[in-house]
Amino acid sequence: MSGSNEAAAIEVTDLRKTFAQRKALDRVGVRVAPGEMVALIGTSGSGKSTLLRHVAGLIPADRRGGEVRVHGQIVQSGGKVARDIRRIRSRVGFIFQQFNLVGRLTLLTNTLVGMLARVPTWRSAAHCFTRAEKHAALTSLERVGIAEHAGQRASTLSGGQQQRGAIARAMVQGAKVILADEPIASLDPESSHRVMAALATLNREDGATVLVSLHQIDYAWRYCPRSVALKDGRVVFDGPTHDLTPDLLRNVYGSCVNWCGDGASTPRATQAHPALPEFHGARHGAPPIFDPPGDPAGAGCLN
Ligand code: ADP
Ligand code: MG
Repeated sequence: MSGSNEAAAIEVTDLRKTFAQRKALDRVGVRVAPGEMVALIGTSGSGKSTLLRHVAGLIPADRRGGEVRVHGQIVQSGGKVARDIRRIRSRVGFIFQQFNLVGRLTLLTNTLVGMLARVPTWRSAAHCFTRAEKHAALTSLERVGIAEHAGQRASTLSGGQQQRGAIARAMVQGAKVILADEPIASLDPESSHRVMAALATLNREDGATVLVSLHQIDYAWRYCPRSVALKDGRVVFDGPTHDLTPDLLRNVYGSCVNWCGDGASTPRATQAHPALPEFHGARHGAPPIFDPPGDPAGAGCLN
């Protein structure tokens, strides 16, 4: 975690949002240091999307609802979104669960759109990009493994390919902060791993800070050293993902899963519970891509 003098990549202070008298975010505080990759977990309705939208400045918090800063710059404060939000957002990539690309445009053009903040309007409107810009876009597509589809219309790509296209666009954009809202929720496991690996590349090689909401704990386990858990709009856990114990997960997901009582600090259970997201860390046999703090062998298995 960063020292207190260094500006956090994302700093959320005492954030509150009320929808029709229901608290969607309740005094949320989160500080993410530059270069971190953090999972945002919690059940459906816990406030993940609402938090990410506040961080992007897409919705204002309550009038006395706290503050959001990105790299020290105010995104919103006291229920008002910053006037220069467009400038701040030009360095923030937002990746949604679906519909990130324009279907009728080619994958290459969609990727080039990441440069819109930097090229003159007349050129972007005419889809008129230089050779160097096209080369940069193709390089990003190569880095996420989909360069061979560059000329294809986005609507003809699989969901996972489209998500990787959105990540390539964020690379071209030079995004310093990536906010991804359940980017793998509608994907099969193999595509999910490819998308998470592409996000990890953006984090590790480009130094982008990533805050990604995930329904599946096992992907947080494998890709995100730190997790922040929301429950009813409140932060109920913030720490190393591998510190998430069965009790903590039960608190987050409100499950009555039967845990095998080996007393270990790693999550294990004798049976899956429908209320719990999938968690197959051990079954994949895949080690975390970050250096785990403890022994990952057999860890991370909830079913
Ligand atoms: P998650 O992404 O974790 O599933 P959300 O952030 O979408 O949760 O929702 C958190 C809570 O806020 C839910 O109770 C949801 O119904 C409510 N909510 C979210 N957006 C709106 C909105 N625009 N109007 C009213 N209620 C909303
Ligand atoms: Mg959501």
